[in-house]
Amino acid sequence: MTFDHDISEYGVTSVREMILTGRRSAEEVARRHIEWIAGSDKEIGAFLTVMADEAVDRARAVDREIRGGEKPGRLAGVPVAIKDVFATRGIRTTCGSRILSSYKPPFSATAVERIMAEGGVVMGKTNMDEFAMGSSTENSAFFPTRNPWDLERVPGGSSGGSAAAVAAGYAVAALGSDTGGSVRQPAALCGVVGMKPTYGRVSRYGLIAFASSLDHVGILARTVDDCAAVLEVIAGEDPNDSTCAREPVGAYTESGARRDFRVGVLPEKLIDQLEPGARSVFLSNVDALRQMGATIGESTLPHWDYSLPAYYILATSEASSNLARYDGVKYGHRSSSYENLRDMYCRSRTEGFGAEVKRRIILGTHSLSSGYYDAYYQRACRIRTLVMRDFAENFGRFDLLVMPTTPGPAFRLGDRVEDPVQMYLSDVFTVAANLAGVPAISIPSGFVDGLPVGLQVVGPHFSEEKIFQLARAFERAVSLPVRIPPMAAARRN
Ligand code: GLN
Repeated sequence: MTFDHDISEYGVTSVREMILTGRRSAEEVARRHIEWIAGSDKEIGAFLTVMADEAVDRARAVDREIRGGEKPGRLAGVPVAIKDVFATRGIRTTCGSRILSSYKPPFSATAVERIMAEGGVVMGKTNMDEFAMGSSTENSAFFPTRNPWDLERVPGGSSGGSAAAVAAGYAVAALGSDTGGSVRQPAALCGVVGMKPTYGRVSRYGLIAFASSLDHVGILARTVDDCAAVLEVIAGEDPNDSTCAREPVGAYTESGARRDFRVGVLPEKLIDQLEPGARSVFLSNVDALRQMGATIGESTLPHWDYSLPAYYILATSEASSNLARYDGVKYGHRSSSYENLRDMYCRSRTEGFGAEVKRRIILGTHSLSSGYYDAYYQRACRIRTLVMRDFAENFGRFDLLVMPTTPGPAFRLGDRVEDPVQMYLSDVFTVAANLAGVPAISIPSGFVDGLPVGLQVVGPHFSEEKIFQLARAFERAVSLPVRIPPMAAARRN
């Protein structure tokens, strides 16, 4: 069994058509992906759980349905990877944590259900920073994931396993979660597309909570079209999530490309914070947009500098409350020896949580405690309102904003583990969109010393169609010569 093209040509539409026309069966496609995973995931570490048997069974069922003349799903036979933060019925769901290392949920997340209902074939659960807290996937309680472009470097995080899986060709698309950049940042560092839609666009039911007012379900894929195809399937109202929007779902796959938007660029003094290589890629991206026909102006974001500190106060505060449920009583790790109930809570949590999670619970509890609440939590809430207003004002003048996704390309494993603030700074360009709940995408935009970086496009609430239009136009205009890492290209046959 051979594939005639390289993985960059295996998109949602092409895989589905290949299966519907009978050129390949869904089972062949699934088995081929399983071979790829078996061949090189030992080096990369994208998956925490590979669901080989389940994937083959699922693919066979898709083949049977097609043969039986049933209407094929929109993702019929498409291999998909799921970040281990999503509940999957009967399948171990660890959230990257020792405390959930043997947890098998009795239900699946809505986004996962919807993918499966459209014929998507789940290949496995991907590695992540524990409870999605991190920017490098080094905070996983199990092992770090490596970047398929350079195995000595991080894939970004916290959805690093999903980004690496898509870049390495283990799945056509993947689900991730984005609380402060966890889909867009790893997408940029692994050279794939990553989107965080509007808050409420996709149900969070079954997404293990980190910071509920900032958590978003997001998508990683190799092209803008693939990302749109998955969003169309997972978006929309869900009675199981009261924060999920009733807004009708757009025809994301059909919105096409458009070049003549009014585009606001991040102010120059913020662009100057970029590493030199990333800065020159970004400036050439802005030129490309101008040449495409976009009208370029400078955005004004006076409260931008406060968004990162406000994010880390709000995210840790919400986490300290959300993570209180892991007490060893209902589910998750329970210490094997303890003296009384209080001691059991204490030991179970001490043994079950890693250092970063503990740091955040302590920081968040502090920000919410009486006497500090006004100075920290409430102040951060006020900043959040100001950041929202900044965006709203810009969206009066501009259709969309563009900014870099990250300050530079992937860093080396181990480089930032000792310095949490340095690690937190990876998110300077992504957290503001989470505070405001506005949609944002990261698209591959160039290379710095052979490593990919991304361009971020941010729009007003529920402007996903516009974002896809500009992203498609940009994707065509810059048409990067290399779209897959050398290790994946070498496997081509
Ligand atoms: N890196 C950020 C953090 O550690 C964002 C994480 C996320 O989006 N889940 O909080």
